[in-house]
Amino acid sequence: MSILVVEELGKTYSGFQAVRNVSFALEAGEMLALIGPNGAGKSTCFNMIDGQLAPTTGRIAIFGKSTAGMTPGDIWRLGVGRTFQVAATFASMTVAENVQMALISHHAARWLTLRWAARRHVAEAEHLLDLVGMADQGQRSCGELAYGDLKRLELAIALANDPKLLLMDEPAAGMAPRERHAVMDLTARIARQRGIGVLFTEHDMDVVFGHADRVLVLNRGTLIAEGAPHAVRANAEVQAVYLGAGSLYRAHT
Ligand code: ADP
Ligand code: MG
Repeated sequence: MSILVVEELGKTYSGFQAVRNVSFALEAGEMLALIGPNGAGKSTCFNMIDGQLAPTTGRIAIFGKSTAGMTPGDIWRLGVGRTFQVAATFASMTVAENVQMALISHHAARWLTLRWAARRHVAEAEHLLDLVGMADQGQRSCGELAYGDLKRLELAIALANDPKLLLMDEPAAGMAPRERHAVMDLTARIARQRGIGVLFTEHDMDVVFGHADRVLVLNRGTLIAEGAPHAVRANAEVQAVYLGAGSLYRAHT
């Protein structure tokens, strides 16, 4: 069974149709890229899938359950992780405390005070930080982290919810090309290890084509191509769409 099924999804913003009749499915352990020029409707799709926006038309099912009427919190509790274009962490806390907070939320012990939080889930937080290559940075304050490390921390925080579906809207935005590849390598490795299905979008086409198992192309709200990276890259309509925005073979941000 597909972990995410999107059927005839549409979103209209006060008369403007941003997403139109989008259908696709995502399997466990799969890295699926949703790409398209600025304004194509990618973020709108992410926001409907994670519950921040109600679809105007169509259906979304996650792990076989319709998400109609669910809040982002309901969907997160199904086992859905989300990272954001702008990293969301608590700057005043240490790296390890941020992950512990996420673990506490996951274990639904929200009544605990922060003082207790510091002692809860220490080993589990260390394990997650080790997974993203930040084992030695747990005691640093988040406010002093380099941008790439913040993004890796954000991934650890998303993993604290033990997600089986991970939604990443431009996870590597603002990073240098080498860092982009490193973050996506890490994501792909963890996703395969844990059987997590990942839906991601990314501006850097080398990163997309290097890490996606399958690629969906959105243009003006409509899916215009779907398939293996090499086939999508060779697709004439896709190339035409990207001609104005920049070559498919070079980064454009
Ligand atoms: P992408 O993430 O692919 O760049 P978006 O989903 O952010 O695209 O936007 C798709 C289209 O919908 C754009 O034309 C954008 O201007 C429009 N749009 C996005 N959010 C809103 C909103 N809240 N109200 C009105 N129009 C919006
Ligand atoms: Mg966007």
